[in-house]
Amino acid sequence: MRKIIIGNWKMNPKTTEEAKKLFRKASEIKTKKSEIIIAPPFIYLPLLKSRKIKLAAQDVFYKQEDAYTGEISPAMLKSLGVNYALVGHSERRMEIGEDDELINKKVKAGLKAGLKIILAVGEKQRDGEEFWKFLKNQIKSDLRGVQKKLAKNLIIAYEPVWAIGTKKPIYPGDLLETAIFIRRTLLDIFGRKIALTVKILYGGSVEPENAREFLETEGISGLLVGNASLDAEKFKKIIKETDK
Ligand code: PEP
Repeated sequence: MRKIIIGNWKMNPKTTEEAKKLFRKASEIKTKKSEIIIAPPFIYLPLLKSRKIKLAAQDVFYKQEDAYTGEISPAMLKSLGVNYALVGHSERRMEIGEDDELINKKVKAGLKAGLKIILAVGEKQRDGEEFWKFLKNQIKSDLRGVQKKLAKNLIIAYEPVWAIGTKKPIYPGDLLETAIFIRRTLLDIFGRKIALTVKILYGGSVEPENAREFLETEGISGLLVGNASLDAEKFKKIIKETDK
């Protein structure tokens, strides 16, 4: 099974020229064992084309049309050939104040429109036992009312907030435990057959030096890479880890 490697460029790079260059370098990476997805800022989406790389939006709105200034609909993305959208990234949850109710609407609307939704979830702190409850509630709230038949287009990106951009990734043992916990939560929501089809990715300070141990963790189908995806060499090294 091919691993999914997503590069989340966040609000980078600064110019279209740099974006095109970075994308070209990513599209030159040769890999047999991974599927590369790049999530650039919206304005770069129409400019980046490759037969090998898929594109993801970093967000999507929950209405298909009408008067919603500044928003981008699932239909707009689809018309551009963008089939993936990231929803619920912690930077949007924390900086912009997106809550589970809003995220749930986006997940449902995106899936209904035929997008593949990469739902980012993760606890803010990992001390004591409380965070398990937080994670379960977050997943259940974000997926409330999602039709079982659409769950095949759902990907969960487990991104503990404390690990994002901190150079302090999770311990692989803790990741294994969490992947099992997330799978159990998906089982509660969708039942066994469907829960097993949902892919779980890890994100949070992934670097070439640690990518391998996360990729080898049971139940983890790939990685969501933030800062390291902005460095063409690092991103290439991370992808090359899937081919070893
Ligand atoms: C992210 O932006 O989703 C992320 C995981 O960032 P980083 O890899 O920089 O921690």
